[in-house]
Amino acid sequence: MSTSRNRSEALYQEALQHIVGGVNSPSRSFKAVGGGAPVFMKRASGAHFWDEDGNRYIDYLAAYGPIITGHAHPHITAAITAAAQNGTLYGTPTELEITLAKMLKEAIPSMDKVRFVNSGTEAVMTTIRVARAYTKRNKIIKFAGCYHGHSDLVLVAAGSGPSTLGIPDSAGIPASIATEVITVPFNDLEGLRAALDAWGEDVAAVMVEPIVGNFGMVMPKPGFLEGLCQMTHDNGSLVIYDEVISAFRFHYGSTQTYAGLANHEAIQPDLTALGKIIGGGLPIGAYGGRKHVMEQVAPLGPAYQAGTMAGNPASIAAGIACLEVLQGEGVYEEMERLTIKLTEGLQASADRHGVPLTINRIRGSFSTHFCDHPVTNYDEAQDTDGEAFAAFFRHMLDRGVNLAPSKYEAWFMTTAHTDADIEATLEAAEESFKAMKN
Ligand code: PMP
Repeated sequence: MSTSRNRSEALYQEALQHIVGGVNSPSRSFKAVGGGAPVFMKRASGAHFWDEDGNRYIDYLAAYGPIITGHAHPHITAAITAAAQNGTLYGTPTELEITLAKMLKEAIPSMDKVRFVNSGTEAVMTTIRVARAYTKRNKIIKFAGCYHGHSDLVLVAAGSGPSTLGIPDSAGIPASIATEVITVPFNDLEGLRAALDAWGEDVAAVMVEPIVGNFGMVMPKPGFLEGLCQMTHDNGSLVIYDEVISAFRFHYGSTQTYAGLANHEAIQPDLTALGKIIGGGLPIGAYGGRKHVMEQVAPLGPAYQAGTMAGNPASIAAGIACLEVLQGEGVYEEMERLTIKLTEGLQASADRHGVPLTINRIRGSFSTHFCDHPVTNYDEAQDTDGEAFAAFFRHMLDRGVNLAPSKYEAWFMTTAHTDADIEATLEAAEESFKAMKN
């Protein structure tokens, strides 16, 4: 089966002349799946994309997470249009910002105070600054394979994007900065204990994706977050949750209140970084936390953070509208139902054709690991068959299913997917696994 993508090819050649690498984010390149032109999309609606050559795709990328209601959701589109008609940027406060801040606080009780920024990267970067200002310490402990955006400190031994490209440590980051970061394996309390024993007095914060979305979808083992919070707080350090992917992904709220995890009081962070879904598909980030910690931030305190575009009415209106859709009755249950149908079908199909496949599913999202062992940390996620993933990715693309071009990225269900989409995806997968064995 072959699908013509001549126009994508031509546009890629043109893009290479003007845009570095032809893409505005390295994770969009096809480098990790054998190279060549990425697909240039022209239009998207609901669960579907149409490329420049007129091919249709069922989308499970969801723009790496934000598009949980499907593309061009009418409620969100109307909110953005209304906001734009009133002016896109004021440089003054607006009431809309209070509305979204209140919605976030209600859903994520550890956030007494919120500040909006423009990306997940900015949100994470600022939580680190605030933690350092509050504790008057410098070092950060993070977990191997978790990705926290592209600011200097957190690109040391980072996850999906950089590891896909084989550059876990970016060039341009001074060695002196890398010494401020200690990386331990996810789900490994012993490792965390050892790091705190060695560096404890210097550690400002322990940063974690409490449910991982960047080396596949990986749950914390029972007791991991409880132990992490306890040890970190005993050490006088702050807990920072990077919930840029996980907030509002599995239920209306964050990991901190997710029913799939017990003992919520014992897993509350001091600071939380948000992004993606809370902007409904427009650029956004936010961070927040305990009042006494957030009071470090200017204009109240000495930690400086600012933004010309921060809290712009279009992003905020889109975020409010997106959360309103997610408040709908049974929304998460329906995404989970479709995802179970999809993952059960994928597993059965892979088994039928003798393709080793481990699926990690958490409600409406999952990751496919081409291996025959469980994936609970970054080492196990790396120890999977990248070539098999690349072959599967390309077979699926040729059959009209759009996945992220990396073995580390998740599949995301949206509220727009239907049973018909799942059935078509399973047909494509059956043919793909079969073709991989021929
Ligand atoms: N944190 C996590 C957990 C993420 O997955 C990402 C983006 N994939 C970021 C931070 C950075 O967000 P952004 O790309 O909006 O800067």
